[in-house]
Amino acid sequence: DQMREAQRALEAPMFSDLVGDIEVSFEFFPPKSEKMAETLWQSVETLKPLDPRFVSVTYGAGGSTRERTHEQVVRIQNEAQIPAAAHLTCVAATREEVDAVARHYWEEGIRHIVALRGDAPDSEAGYAPHPGGYENAVDLIKGLKKVGDFEISAAAYPEMHPDSKDRQADLDNLKAKFDAGATRAITQFFFEPECFFDFRDRAAAAGIEGEIVPGIMPVMSFAAVQKMSGLCGTAIPHWMEGLFEGLDEKPEARQLVSATIAAELCRRLYAGGVRQFHFYTLNRAELSYAICHMLGLRPKADT
Ligand code: FAD
Repeated sequence: DQMREAQRALEAPMFSDLVGDIEVSFEFFPPKSEKMAETLWQSVETLKPLDPRFVSVTYGAGGSTRERTHEQVVRIQNEAQIPAAAHLTCVAATREEVDAVARHYWEEGIRHIVALRGDAPDSEAGYAPHPGGYENAVDLIKGLKKVGDFEISAAAYPEMHPDSKDRQADLDNLKAKFDAGATRAITQFFFEPECFFDFRDRAAAAGIEGEIVPGIMPVMSFAAVQKMSGLCGTAIPHWMEGLFEGLDEKPEARQLVSATIAAELCRRLYAGGVRQFHFYTLNRAELSYAICHMLGLRPKADT
């Protein structure tokens, strides 16, 4: 086993071997202030030369960012001229209301929706569908397909969604998303490549043939990631705590460590055949840019 491990390590591409034969997408959240809007726009402009296949803008809990999400998505597509995807959830809205939002996107030329169930505004209470609303992501995808022939991305959970009965039920649900018309799944963030490979194998065994893109979360604040992981069921490896230890007050050093960890994760995913990556940018370009750079991606000359 040790021999095989060593052989695998030697065969895996080094950063210096990576030529950028990858496709990337970037996720942003809608800004809450003018200043944050400025940061977001700078990040979009910084990342644009990497020729992302799309960028997406999240939808706030409870639909609270409906207008702001819409505004950013349309601006990114029209002004930055990057294909933009709008996240949309089932929370706190009737089917008619959700359909109206989708129709509005269609009329504006937005052809890609990241379709999600969303979470209960009060996480203690657990999720319950809105009366007259879409029940879950599968139901939403079916509804969206009636509004227009959108490209649809859906969510996948390598470490299982916390509401799932078991891993098989989670995979069945993912398969139902593809059967309902999803083009691809984007995963919740995770930190061990084996976690993704194992999930990819189980998805294939469950008859899922669609594209499953790893969602990469470069750590900006370790405390925030710990909190998020608790909510969404992502495991934080022990070694990671060690790597961020003592860096709370050292933002520059922390950034370098974050970029290294995420780039190493991507390098190992690449070694396992992954060629598509989705970055949770948290509206900052530097980390995602650096990681893409290390994967061999270079700016396109004409952008
Ligand atoms: P679903 O797949 O519909 O459901 C999740 C789980 O609930 C299922 O695995 C299943 O176990 C259970 N379930 C659902 N329906 C049934 C049923 N009929 N019977 C039994 N069990 C059922 N949230 C936001 O608010 N805004 C965003 O912009 C956003 N973007 C995201 C982007 C990505 C890439 C990811 C991975 C997540 C995002 N989320 C976002 C979070 C997401 O809304 C939550 O994870 C939510 O809890 C589940 O959404 P889903 O679409 O996966 O739900």
